[in-house]
Amino acid sequence: MSTTTRPSCLFFIVNNSLVDADADAGSKVPQRKQNHPSNRIERSSMSTVPQSILQANEKYAASFAKPTVPRKNFLVVTCLDPRIQPYEQMGLQFGECGVLRNAGGTAPNALPNIIVAQNFGLRDIAIVHHTDCGLTHITHQLIRDAVQEANGAEAAKTVDQFDFHEFKDVPGSVKRDVEYLARQPAIRKGTQITGWVYDVETGNVEDVVVS
Ligand SMILES: [Zn+2]
Repeated sequence: MSTTTRPSCLFFIVNNSLVDADADAGSKVPQRKQNHPSNRIERSSMSTVPQSILQANEKYAASFAKPTVPRKNFLVVTCLDPRIQPYEQMGLQFGECGVLRNAGGTAPNALPNIIVAQNFGLRDIAIVHHTDCGLTHITHQLIRDAVQEANGAEAAKTVDQFDFHEFKDVPGSVKRDVEYLARQPAIRKGTQITGWVYDVETGNVEDVVVS
């Protein structure tokens, strides 16, 4: 069975390579998910991924060890891009910190979750954006058009309620988001908020701003 995966970041939506249906993919969906409400989406866009996840997880669980490193009370907010590995890139270990991911790693779209994370002790925040981010390649209209092409005009209207906080200047977007968090009343007083840019070509992380 093929283990090919399709990256699901916005960049690929722009290039129209995300949604081609695999006609017989339904037969490859694991039995235990046949009646799941999201099954239709899995068939159309995820192909053999669910089965490969189950197979990989069997091996993972066989040698699983719970994290033993002390918590750093630290939260990384970063992009969903498959090229980002927050633990490895920032010298962190599994279990040491929390990681919030969304398209671009934007703070406004992560805010409710950041507030929850702080409640659980993940207090200090690192905003990490990256070069060649999908959010630098898209506009709200492009996303809207892609939804309309895939799901129709009525569905496209629902996109208007969202702000994707797209950006062109990566260091500028980091600074914007750090400043945004610093002025949020619900962010705990005394929170250290740092901003970083990860370079997907070199692997380097560069500090941009410390609140
Ligand atoms: Zn990105």
